[in-house]
Amino acid sequence: MMRVIVLFFSLLLLCAGTLFATPADAFQVTTDPQTVSPGDPFLIRITELSKARHPVAFFAGRKFMFVTCGDDCAIAVCAADLALKPGKYRIMVTAGERKRRATITVRRHAPAVMRITLPPDKVTLSPDDMRRVEREENLLKALWIEQAEKMWDGSFLLPLQNEVSTQFGVKRVINNKTVSFHRGIDIRGKEGEGVRASNSGRVVLAEELYFGGNTLVIAHGMGIFTVYMHLDSFGTNKGKNVSKGEIIGFVGSTGRSTGPHLHFGVKVQDASVNPVTFMELKL
Ligand SMILES: [Zn+2]
Repeated sequence: MMRVIVLFFSLLLLCAGTLFATPADAFQVTTDPQTVSPGDPFLIRITELSKARHPVAFFAGRKFMFVTCGDDCAIAVCAADLALKPGKYRIMVTAGERKRRATITVRRHAPAVMRITLPPDKVTLSPDDMRRVEREENLLKALWIEQAEKMWDGSFLLPLQNEVSTQFGVKRVINNKTVSFHRGIDIRGKEGEGVRASNSGRVVLAEELYFGGNTLVIAHGMGIFTVYMHLDSFGTNKGKNVSKGEIIGFVGSTGRSTGPHLHFGVKVQDASVNPVTFMELKL
């Protein structure tokens, strides 16, 4: 009887093995971590890279390229946008004819709320200002599309080593109306304090904007950008290559700001990413 049971289970295991085994020429895809909050970054990791030629990942309507991370692996840096609804999302990785799927779960996250009361004339923009804001929003949107080669060098660092005064994702309600979500972090700073490049890359914008004041954007390649707002002045120019840790500007209170601080943002393509969790990525 015992022998029959053993034989039965052996057969069962064999069947299961055949059903679930991946072909010998398959590459493996995993996400790290497997569950994120809206605004969190994550990595798509390919192991047995030698079996994947020119891999590309697709997630939430965006396309991600891979960089090698060791002998036989590659990673793509992705992010769940702040506006992404909770749920399970499919990630497709293609390499020539071969396809692999992975999933990422976005957990429910209730944002902190910041209520602000302002005189109505401070909230309503003139038609001229509205046109300017729209033009500048389009200017920024166009930046996130560019996908240069990888320029970053290891993990990213905070541009200013001071206390964070407003966290990422805070919902701002001005005069009882939801106006916006905070798509970066505010770091305290003294007027004129040096702001460092979070990583190596190329300056793709150094311009005075209506809301952001003196705003600087660095492209780090593969669709990753860091954004520095309300600067007193710039320490570099558009088109310049910068190294990680180099001073690129000085803390100020330009644009819509109530005191000297740095608004620091991270974009992965057009997704707004939590800079704090992004700095923790091992790259
Ligand atoms: Zn801010």
